[in-house]
Amino acid sequence: MLEFHQVHKTYTTPQGPLNVLDNVSLRLAAGQSLALMGESGSGKSTLLHLAAGLDLPDQGTVSFENQNVASLPEPTRARLRREQLGLVFQQFHLVPSLTVIDNLRLQARLAKRDDADWTNYLIERLGLHGMEKRYPEQLSGGQQQRLAIGRALAPRPPLLLADELTGNLDETTAGEVLELLLSLVRETQCALLIVTHSPQVAAPLDRCLRLSHGNLLEAAP
Ligand code: ADP
Ligand code: MG
Repeated sequence: MLEFHQVHKTYTTPQGPLNVLDNVSLRLAAGQSLALMGESGSGKSTLLHLAAGLDLPDQGTVSFENQNVASLPEPTRARLRREQLGLVFQQFHLVPSLTVIDNLRLQARLAKRDDADWTNYLIERLGLHGMEKRYPEQLSGGQQQRLAIGRALAPRPPLLLADELTGNLDETTAGEVLELLLSLVRETQCALLIVTHSPQVAAPLDRCLRLSHGNLLEAAP
């Protein structure tokens, strides 16, 4: 489903070139789950941005279902993101002017997969039943992140990318949010690439990789 082949990524900084990914190769099959670990600044978010087609490698290829992402024009990449990928970040990125239910349905509609039964089921599973007409600012941090997970899964994407999604939450809430995410991922059989610092999160996943000095190493959680 997702393949990195000998990917290099270098940023230009005032201090000179910064080599973040150095010959990174990776394969993620449909339905597989993978934890990505590594020190702060090791390039985890860079790797996720490349996986989402939000940025392109300097060398090597990133392919989604055997299509080289770099060969697609940006409108096609944007459509791929809307229809095939769920994205969850540390910041919730909800639409503040839309209600809970409209935040969910917007994403589903953009992907042309508006399914009222699925959206209603999601609301129930997210523990947001009865809060459909609230606005994001009327929710707690944990509820907002649950909604962000629901929004990412509303179009039923085959791949979910999550980047330190619990960074803004307290420990108990973080645990609940992760448990919900993992259970919805299993239920929808969606592939998962999750950046996490938590060995408990990584342990039940199919694989755990660590980024270190630009290299991707197989790791034990
Ligand atoms: P992580 O998510 O593992 O903390 P990042 O992928 O965000 O790491 O960043 C890796 C390195 O690249 C860091 O040193 C960061 O400062 C640098 N970096 C990230 N984005 C840019 C950018 N757009 N321009 C220049 N340097 C960047
Ligand atoms: Mg990061």
